[in-house]
Amino acid sequence: MRSFWISALASVLMVFAAPAASHAQGGSAPASAETENFVRGFVRFLAYHEAGHLLMTQIADLNNNPDWSQSDREDYADKFAMILLRPDANDPDGLEEIVNAAAGWLQVDDSIIRNEPHAPASQRASDILCLLYGSDPEAFADLRDLTDPSMDCVGIYQAMEREIREVFQDYSGEMGQEINIVYARPTLGMKAAHDFLRASGVVEDLKDDIEFDFYLTNKTTIQAISCDGRVKSDSFYFDRVRAASPEDDHFVITLCYEMIDARLKYGMKGFEDQAQ
Ligand SMILES: [Zn+2]
Repeated sequence: MRSFWISALASVLMVFAAPAASHAQGGSAPASAETENFVRGFVRFLAYHEAGHLLMTQIADLNNNPDWSQSDREDYADKFAMILLRPDANDPDGLEEIVNAAAGWLQVDDSIIRNEPHAPASQRASDILCLLYGSDPEAFADLRDLTDPSMDCVGIYQAMEREIREVFQDYSGEMGQEINIVYARPTLGMKAAHDFLRASGVVEDLKDDIEFDFYLTNKTTIQAISCDGRVKSDSFYFDRVRAASPEDDHFVITLCYEMIDARLKYGMKGFEDQAQ
């Protein structure tokens, strides 16, 4: 277990260091098990990142904090995802997924990303590893060398964990609004991405995790759809759909099949994330 993350990271990097075979074949080959594991971890992290935006808006209204820049909000959503997904040292599946999320960011070529509000991809990877290390510095001692020595990973983790517990979580024992899940029928070519997302359980896990720990006051939906033709077709994103009165506002997390499809085919090469 001690070196679990090293072997996981190495295997993921090896898979994606090689030119994507399926890409060369026009993307028609089925994804390998390694690729599927990698995409599952990455998709889960991005979905939980959007949940961070959702909770920041619906529960704490942090999105309107005038002192925060857009990149501050993005960093916060990443940290939120990391706290919600933090695996125990004895949870190899959870560990593999979070390592895959970090490895995913390491694959991104920053130079091709446009209009990017998030931190550089490599920074997002090292922040994930910093928080993972900070969550349990003994169990994850091997990660220490990968973290920025100027960052107090333990302190950052504990502060964020405390903030979520004290500001966001609900201990009334009562449940707020249920989250609606919608899997829209995939358009031509998006069936594999749709099937993959359903089989992954990511959406259902996210619904359960949020409903269990947080009290939702508004109608909330996680929708998986084909986004071709929309402004942001290769991404996940969060919207607040305004109603006549704020209590009727509808909160929507959108997961585009196209983003999943592209990762299954090409890994992170050519990733143009405009997810906000
Ligand atoms: Zn974001």
